[in-house]
Amino acid sequence: MWFALSDTQKELQDLARKFAREEIMPKAAEYDRTMEYPWDIVKKAWELGLINIHIPQHYGGLGLSYFDHSLIAEEITYGCPALEVILASTNFAQMALLMGDNKELEKKYLGRLIEEPLITAYAITEPGAGSDVNGVRTRAEKKGDEYIINGQKMWITNAGTANWYFVLARTNPDPKCPASKAFTGFIIDRDTPGLTLGKKEINMGLRCSDTRGITFEDVRVPKENVVQGEGGGFKIAMRVFDRSRPTVGSGACGIAQRALDEATKYALERKTFGVPIANHQAVSLMLADMAIGIETSRLAWMRAAWEIDQGRRNTYYAAIAKAYASDFANKCASDAVQIFGAAGFSSEYPVEKLMRDVKIYQIFEGTNQIQRLIISRELIEKAKQKA
Ligand SMILES: Cc1cc2nc3c(=O)[nH]c(=O)nc-3n(C[C@H](O)[C@H](O)[C@H](O)COP(=O)(O)OP(=O)(O)OC[C@H]3O[C@@H](n4cnc5c(N)ncnc54)[C@H](O)[C@@H]3O)c2cc1C
Repeated sequence: MWFALSDTQKELQDLARKFAREEIMPKAAEYDRTMEYPWDIVKKAWELGLINIHIPQHYGGLGLSYFDHSLIAEEITYGCPALEVILASTNFAQMALLMGDNKELEKKYLGRLIEEPLITAYAITEPGAGSDVNGVRTRAEKKGDEYIINGQKMWITNAGTANWYFVLARTNPDPKCPASKAFTGFIIDRDTPGLTLGKKEINMGLRCSDTRGITFEDVRVPKENVVQGEGGGFKIAMRVFDRSRPTVGSGACGIAQRALDEATKYALERKTFGVPIANHQAVSLMLADMAIGIETSRLAWMRAAWEIDQGRRNTYYAAIAKAYASDFANKCASDAVQIFGAAGFSSEYPVEKLMRDVKIYQIFEGTNQIQRLIISRELIEKAKQKA
C-alpha cells in the first residue's frame, strides 16, 4: 500500500487548488447570482491545462489518468461545484469519443479543443429516459452515407455553449434488440442544421452552468461521425459511467471539505454563552462527523479511480464512491448550514450555495438509488460465483 501522491500529482493538485482559490472563489457567488456562463474562468482553465485532461499527448493534450482527473475535480469543486460540472462534462464527451477507435474522428474533434478554448457536451438523457438509458428514443436512421437523427435530449450540461456533442441514439428500431446492440454514439456539431436548443433551465444549484434540452429534426450526420461502429453506443455510455463516477465522488468530497472548512472557521469565530461555538461539544462533534465522512469518501473515490487506471473493471467501486461521497456531502453541507445558524440560511455566507449545489450529486451520473442497484447486483453476482 502507498497512500502518497507522486510529485507530479502534487503539482497538479497545487495548480488546481491555487486556481480554485484565486480565480474561482472570488467570483463564484456573483456567477451564482447572475447565472451567467463563466467563460472567463473556463478560458483560464484551458490556458492552464485544467480542461481536456484526457486528450492523448499525440493530439497535443496531457493524457492524464482518471485518478488525476478526480484529484483536479476535488480541488475545483471546492471553489465552485458549477465550474467543476462544466469542466467535467466536457471531459465526459471527450472520454466517450476516446472509447471508440475512430482515429480520424478523434483527430478532428479533439484537435480543435487543443487549438482554442471550446467546450463539449455529453448527451444521453431524454425527457422519458434518465435512469433507464435503454429507454432512449432519439432515432438515427442510415440513409446512404449519412444518418438522419430525430428526437430530443434533456438536462444536458453545456448544451448551449458546446462546440460539439456526443449523442446516444437508437439505430435498431426493433424493441427486442438488446441494449448492447441497439444504440450508437455520434459526434454532432452544434451548428448542424435541424438542431435547436431549449431554454436554459433555472435550477436549484449550479446556476451558472448551462443546462438545456436539444431537439433534433432531420439532423444529417455523416457516417464518419459514428464513434464506435453501429450498435456500440450503449457500451460506450456504460464505460463512461465507470470513469465519470469517481470524479463525481471526488467532486462531492471537495464540496464536503469546503463545508467543513467554512463551518470550522465560523465555529471558532462565533460566540454564544461567552465562548466560541466550537467549544460546545454538540457543535465540535458535528465537525468530527464531517471529517469522518470526508476522509472515507476520499478513500472511496481514490480506490475507484485507481482501479480503472489499472485497467480493471471498477463498476462496483465507482458506484460506491459516487453514492457514498454524494450522500455524505449532502449531510456535510446541511450540517454546515446548521452550524452557521441563521447566517447559514443567508446568501451573504457561502454555505447555503453549497447546500443548493450539492443536491444534484445524488441525482446525476446515475441516481444513488441506481448506484445501490448496481452495488447489490455486483455483490450478489460475486456471492453466486463463490457458492
Ligand atoms: C443539472 C443537471 C445536469 C445534468 N447533466 C446531464 C448531462 O450533461 N448529460 C446527460 O445525459 N444527462 C444529464 N443530466 C440528467 C441526469 O443524469 C438525470 O436526471 C438522471 O440520470 C436521473 O434521471 P431522471 O431525472 O429522468 O430521473 P428518473 O429516472 O425519472 O428517476 C426518478 C426517481 O426514481 C428513481 N428510480 C428510477 N428507476 C429506479 C429503479 N429501477 N429503482 C429504484 N429507483 C428508481 C430515481 O432514483 C429517482 O429518485 C443532468 C441533470 C441535471 C439536473
